Amino acid sequence: IEQSALQNDKLAMLGKIAAAIAHEIRNPLTSIRGFIQLLKPYLLEIGKEEYARIILTEIDRANDIIYEFLNSSKPSAPMKQAASIEHLIREVVMLTESESLLRNCEIMVESFQSDAVVSIDIKQVKQVILNLLKNSLDAVEEVQALRRGRIDITLNSDGEYVQIVIKDNGKGMDKATMNKLFDPFFTTKQAGTGLGLSVSYRIIRNHGGTIRVDSEVGSGTAFTIYLPLAE
Ligand code: ADP
Repeated sequence: IEQSALQNDKLAMLGKIAAAIAHEIRNPLTSIRGFIQLLKPYLLEIGKEEYARIILTEIDRANDIIYEFLNSSKPSAPMKQAASIEHLIREVVMLTESESLLRNCEIMVESFQSDAVVSIDIKQVKQVILNLLKNSLDAVEEVQALRRGRIDITLNSDGEYVQIVIKDNGKGMDKATMNKLFDPFFTTKQAGTGLGLSVSYRIIRNHGGTIRVDSEVGSGTAFTIYLPLAE
């Protein structure tokens, strides 16, 4: 599936909008934060310091969301360095541990290419693996009444590319969904942004790689990422 020029334009525009909004919202948030700090002693006096804590936590959360949104939509050239792809994958799997426990999902990593080194922007590629794993966790959660969730990550290489397969036994998807998968803002989730896969696709393309998807409704989905091996 190719990501069209139109989709790239959409993402570039989104990046600009995100940056502008982030700026316009962050400034007022910063002053609200400052004034709440000043009000803290008065709230303490009337036994309501809890209010200050909640307001500050929520402001920080809003800031985090803006930051994440900005980060995921901003098109940036990869800052490449040599990295072990297996190490990176295991690190991301560790990051999702609490979430996979919560959803009673088992994640297995099998590597046939433990020494595979790729030249990548580590942060960006981690983001891709994380996006795919989160999608798989969502997909297995939806069928957890039927079977235990399982995600298999397999690492392989053909001498030119490393191949990372992320396969889940989740709800799968139909052809119509598969066709729109990489479109910015396409989502079937209530609280989804529809940005995860379009951003992932662009990141992998910027690394000279590709992403493929195979899926079957009711039985699961496999994403395959190809990344060129480092010289
Ligand atoms: P979001 O996760 O915010 O919806 P994405 O771009 O990551 O955005 O995904 C787009 C859509 O692709 C999802 O809403 C879902 O319908 C579908 N999808 C992605 N990964 C999977 C998967 N592993 N299994 C089933 N459906 C998936």
